[in-house]
Amino acid sequence: MTYKHHVPSLDRLIHELKKWPGVGPRSANRWANWLLKLPEAEIQKLRQALEDIKTNIKRCPGCFTLTEEETLCYLCNSTSRRKDLICVVEEPFDIARMEASGKFKGQYHVLHGTLSPLNNINPDHLTIEPLMKKITNGQIKEIILALDADMEGDITALYIGKLLKDRDIKVSRLAHGIPFGGNIDYIDEQTLGRALENRVDFSI
Ligand SMILES: [Zn+2]
Repeated sequence: MTYKHHVPSLDRLIHELKKWPGVGPRSANRWANWLLKLPEAEIQKLRQALEDIKTNIKRCPGCFTLTEEETLCYLCNSTSRRKDLICVVEEPFDIARMEASGKFKGQYHVLHGTLSPLNNINPDHLTIEPLMKKITNGQIKEIILALDADMEGDITALYIGKLLKDRDIKVSRLAHGIPFGGNIDYIDEQTLGRALENRVDFSI
């Protein structure tokens, strides 16, 4: 279903808004109406914000999270964080959630996805190779796999676990408090903090 106004610019805006996650025809119609009434200055701010995310944001060469820094991000640059502990997350947005739990004071590593044979996502699509490179310097004592408790999360955890086999590194995975099929995006920070504290040994 779609709402047609027969005003090409407006219909085009609704068409674009409908592509957004969670936005159906009714919300797209409502949002378009709201946008239409915005003053030019607000539209300009929105236009600028959209442009900025494309032109200013890069991947940190250390942990692969999003940053606007020229070199390392603020987390990699921090001198108060442990250097021997790496928390592996799927997406940059997971870091903000982990930080909000207040329980983790080590380094991060963003995979930018999970292995998914069904969608042809293989290890080359993720930052697994740089993760292994970090480990070869011998500084790392523990890897925490903070991955979703779903099939892709399991496949990825197993794959990384196997790569780390026979190395003198403790591998653990968030466990308690995350139901199977649970996406860590939807878990409150307290549960996430508890899951981190109760992480289980994942050495294969
Ligand atoms: Zn970084």
